[in-house]
Amino acid sequence: MTTHNTRAGQTGALFISDLHLQAGHPATTAAFFRFLEEQARHTQQLYLLGDLFEYWAGDDDLQDPYHQQIITALRALSDAGVTIYWIAGNRDFLVGAEFAQAAGVTLLAEPHVATIAGQRVVLLHGDAQCTEDTQYMAFRAMVRQPAWQQQFLATPLARRKAIIAGMRESSRKDQGAKSYEIMDVTPAAIAAVFADTSCDVMIHGHTHRPALHSAHGQRRYVLPDWEPEASPPRGGWIAISLDGVITRHRLDGTQVSD
Ligand code: MN
Repeated sequence: MTTHNTRAGQTGALFISDLHLQAGHPATTAAFFRFLEEQARHTQQLYLLGDLFEYWAGDDDLQDPYHQQIITALRALSDAGVTIYWIAGNRDFLVGAEFAQAAGVTLLAEPHVATIAGQRVVLLHGDAQCTEDTQYMAFRAMVRQPAWQQQFLATPLARRKAIIAGMRESSRKDQGAKSYEIMDVTPAAIAAVFADTSCDVMIHGHTHRPALHSAHGQRRYVLPDWEPEASPPRGGWIAISLDGVITRHRLDGTQVSD
């Protein structure tokens, strides 16, 4: 068998991240729906490893028509028997229990160690390992506190959206000024995750630098972000086959050679 993804349950798990879904990006949304229909239908587990959404202002935004489209599609996949797991990204960490229930996804804390096809794999978004970005790390420590989130979620939805839009704008400006190294994960933070979890395989996103890094008997797979209208198009997924083989795939399904 050399073909993939043609039969139900043929793949053990699929992983995606950093789609940054938003109503204003119909091509990415269409690529996501195509992925759900053509790929994710045939897997046992689907892991969403953060920043599925460009932003999430709170579960009281569930009724937004665009969000309803995404939730309906995830729900259909879940109802079809695919187990869907969610790890929060730096943009959609306010997703909560109401979203999870509506979409049929299980929220996981990171780092999460999964055993898939007999293989232990540590899963995370990746933003917490960008430790040289001290300004972001301080911000992250603040907004991941339940007390901060409670207070933020108590403000009106429209106000929250305005605040988030302002933060995205200033973040865009900041990123232009920051160096390449600062925006990537730091080796020490990655080594700590490997050591703390006793895993040899890691999958994460966030950095938008798709790659397989192999060193010291450890493998670190980095997921791509999705921008199907870029040239070349960006996007794709990682698959773990039923016999534990890990492969990387472009948006058109072709395999990236490692
Ligand atoms: Mn991210």
